[in-house]
Formats: sequence, C-alpha cells, structure tokens
Amino acid sequence: TELEPPRRIRALHEDVVNKIAAGEIIVAPVHALKELIENAVDAGSTSLEILVKDGGLKLLQITDNGAGIQKDDLPVLCERFTTSKLKAFEDLQAIGTYGFRGEALASISHIAHLTVTTKPSDSSCAWKAHYASGKLAPAKPGQAADPKACAGRQGTQILVEDLFYNVPTRRRAFRSASEEYAKIAELVGKYAVHCKAVAFSCKKHGEAGAGIAVPGTAGVKDRIRTVHSSAIANELLEVDVGNRQYGFKAEGLVSNANYSGKRTTLLLFINHRSVESSAIKKAVEQTYAMFLPKGGKPFVYLSLDIDPARVDVNVHPTKREVNFLNEDEIIELICDDVRDRLGKVDTSRTFMTQS
Ligand code: ADP
Ligand code: MG
Repeated sequence: TELEPPRRIRALHEDVVNKIAAGEIIVAPVHALKELIENAVDAGSTSLEILVKDGGLKLLQITDNGAGIQKDDLPVLCERFTTSKLKAFEDLQAIGTYGFRGEALASISHIAHLTVTTKPSDSSCAWKAHYASGKLAPAKPGQAADPKACAGRQGTQILVEDLFYNVPTRRRAFRSASEEYAKIAELVGKYAVHCKAVAFSCKKHGEAGAGIAVPGTAGVKDRIRTVHSSAIANELLEVDVGNRQYGFKAEGLVSNANYSGKRTTLLLFINHRSVESSAIKKAVEQTYAMFLPKGGKPFVYLSLDIDPARVDVNVHPTKREVNFLNEDEIIELICDDVRDRLGKVDTSRTFMTQS
C-alpha cells in the first residue's frame, strides 16, 4: 500500500504551548491554591486568608500580609519563567523557597481570570492588575491595562476566577464542587499544621464560619487539634531522628497505639514542601500494623529536612513528588524510630495497668 507523504513539522503557537503547560501544572483547583500558598509563605507572610467558591472553580482568593510585589515588576509577573527566586540552574541545589520556576502565576493566567492586588512594604498605596495569557490586561474591554493605584493592606491578594474557563474538557471533568473543596481543605490543613507562626483561615464563599481557622500563636499540637481532632492531638508521640551520612533530619508527631483511624493520615513535608510518597506511606503502615488492631491506621505528621544537594525537586510538574538519595535507608531509619517509640509506650501502659 502506498503511504501519504509525511506531514510537515511545525512549531506550536506560543499560546497553545502555554495552555498545554498550564494544564499540566494546574490539574485541579487545589494545585493552583498550593502554588499560591507557597508564594505567600515565600513572601514571608504570617497570615493567610483563603476564600473558595464552587470548589475553587468559580473563585479562589488568597490574601497574605507578606512583602508584596514591586509595582515595576507587575508587567512581567505572569510571564513564564519570571521569578525572584532562582537565577542559575545550580541554585536548584540549595533552593530555600517553594517556588523556583516562575511558572505558577503564568499558568494560572492562561487558564483563568487573574487579578492581583499588592502593597509592597515601601509603597504608600496598593496596586491592582488584571492578567490574561501571561500579560497585563484591562479590567474591561477598552480600558487601559496598566496597574491601578488603590487602597489596600500590606501584602498581596490573588484572585483566581473561572478556572479552566477556556479548557472545556478539563472543566467538564470535575464532578462535584464539594470534592474539590475537600481536596483544598486537606491541603490547607497540611500547611496550617506545618507552617508554625502562620495564621490560616479557609472558608467557603457565603458561609459564615471558617472551615479552618488556626491562629498564628498556636503550637503544632493545637494546630493538629484544630485541623484534625482532639482524639488525635491527645495521642501523639514525638519523632526526631537524623543521620549525617544521608544528610537528613526528620521531626514530627505521630499517633501512638491508642489511636486507630479508618485510613492513614499522612502529612509529609520534604524541605517544607508538602509532597506525597507512596513508599513512606507503605512503610509507615507496615510499622503500625503490629501495634494497631487489624485494619487500624495511624496519623503521621513528618517534616523531613534533606540536604538540598541530595534532593531533586524538579521531577514533577506540580512538584507533588520529589526524588532524594538513599530513600530506602532514610525511610528505614524513620520507621525504626517510630517503632522504638511505639514499643516504649506499649510497655509503660502494660506496666501501669499491672500496678
Ligand atoms: P515562582 O514562585 O516559581 O518564583 P510564581 O509564578 O509562583 O513563580 O511567582 C512569580 C514571582 O511573583 C515570584 O518569584 C515572586 O517574586 C512574586 N510573587 C508571587 N506571589 C507573591 C506573593 N503572594 N507575595 C509576594 N510576591 C509574590
Ligand atoms: Mg510560586
């Protein structure tokens, strides 16, 4: 059979490239929010207020009290690969901030209506700017696109509206707003436990009470009590283990043998970034299996500090997973520590009931 001549190879239009990239980085509203929370924390904020409508699909707003953004930076804020954090590729080895690629705001601006209001610490007024497809855009057709002076508090407010409005297939893939809100609440809960000295609030638009409200002064146990439950907060053991050779230190709070949940709650932070790890989850569940009644699952909050030179944070578009050296050895050392501590509590309990 005779084949048609091959088709010519052509470069995709920049707008198409950007939309495809955005769809990889922001798969669901929770991914946009994660980037925005991390930006706010990177900016030194001590208070984060989050407002959500329709599971974040209609509206996602985050207000912080951080350093703000220079007015002169607003024109490039949402361009791809513009960042105040990373300069050279080698800097990735010692990255101390959550962000580094300058892709988050750019991505959001390609798939949502984005409004930024910011008051830098050295400015007497705030500036408000709208963005579309990476660039400053007018609030209404015919108006100027320049940032406008306005009144505002110190810090930055990011408003994301109509997420995926121009990606109909993605938009249709969301079954329920409450499912998306649950993911958002889970994520906010994780950062609210982990970010000491930062106040968090998260609520649904139109609801009076806050879904999550953690004051900045709360300690870790109280954060866990507020976000999760007293049943968990009252039954926690401290984890503290490290090893020079593998360049890591792990701290955290894990439930003792008195607590047994329906499913594992794992709050895992690697170098202060919330990540997922099925390897750690599995190892931890195995460790608890011999201490909990059949089917019982633990609560585990772990914060790992790993020498940045041994971590590759750039393996996943959403930075959901990271790679690090000696993963197996590190997981084993952590689980050994957890097992030791669980064992100690067990014997002291037996001792107490006998006496
Ligand atoms: P990255 O975080 O990787 O640098 P982003 O697209 O998330 O990229 O943000 C681009 C830049 O915008 C950041 O480097 C930072 O300078 C600025 N920025 C974003 N959000 C905030 C915020 N909430 N407060 C202050 N500056 C911010
Ligand atoms: Mg960022």
